Amino acid sequence: METSEPLVARHVLEFPGGYTRSTGPVIGRFLTELRAGRIVGVRTAEGRVLVPPLEYDPATGDPVTDDYVEVGPAGTVTASAWVQEPRPEHPLDRPFAWALIRLDGADTALVHAVDAGDPKELRPGTRVRPVWRERREGGITDIACFRPEVTMIVSPVRPEYRIQAGGALRTFLEGVRRGVFLGGRCPGCAKVYVPFRASCPECGSRIAEQVELPDTGTITTFAINNLPDPRAPEVPFVSAYILLDGADIPMIALVGGVPAHEVRQGMRVRAEWVPESERTLSMANVRWFTPTGEEDAELS
Ligand SMILES: [Zn+2]
Repeated sequence: METSEPLVARHVLEFPGGYTRSTGPVIGRFLTELRAGRIVGVRTAEGRVLVPPLEYDPATGDPVTDDYVEVGPAGTVTASAWVQEPRPEHPLDRPFAWALIRLDGADTALVHAVDAGDPKELRPGTRVRPVWRERREGGITDIACFRPEVTMIVSPVRPEYRIQAGGALRTFLEGVRRGVFLGGRCPGCAKVYVPFRASCPECGSRIAEQVELPDTGTITTFAINNLPDPRAPEVPFVSAYILLDGADIPMIALVGGVPAHEVRQGMRVRAEWVPESERTLSMANVRWFTPTGEEDAELS
């Protein structure tokens, strides 16, 4: 551990029992929210947000308020310890790190496992995001682990299409200029790919059939980006994989019109197009995707 928050770290040594053993109203609320896929902290009388919540402010000994605040889900690693040889009781069966993670909006750090692949991928300041279990039971292990956040620069047209910039890309971009997303349906496996492509990466069949897809879809995964991008609405901004209705493969795009912390998996979104007179043969015709306000979709 590179910085010292030993009281928080001590919880980890009992992981996961340290969290599930005591369920007073404060911890109970924390666990109930975890089951719902949310992480909450509690505000102290002085206004700090404790995550995980405690019944008493460790700094002053005063009882906390009953103001619960949703935090994260992403956060910043403040310290970590690499575990090269996980033991059976550890949450991951491959090398991982125990890390102190200060979730966005929290004033204290939570301890959890980070699946970083390589210790070089992890240092104080690394941005991480939780991986939720599909079946959640109201325990700290409802979060399977954290993973480093994707910090790529968003490129709506994927590099593979730049390389193959032949007919398929042109077909797709001509569609985008008209305000439609063109996908291709594979005759072999029936998968619908968007952007349109000439051959199926899964079964190798040539794709000829074009499918017009609606400009609505569902966010499957997303990343919060803290570096400015000229195309983005603001900082932080969200880039997301969006599964257009009727497609089998998500495409990457910006999300706008919603605060970054409100974006979630399953959120329904619709493309916001630039006016027809300003359109070019590019993905810039789609300003970004904005929430439709529909109920979240179930992700399979
Ligand atoms: Zn196929």
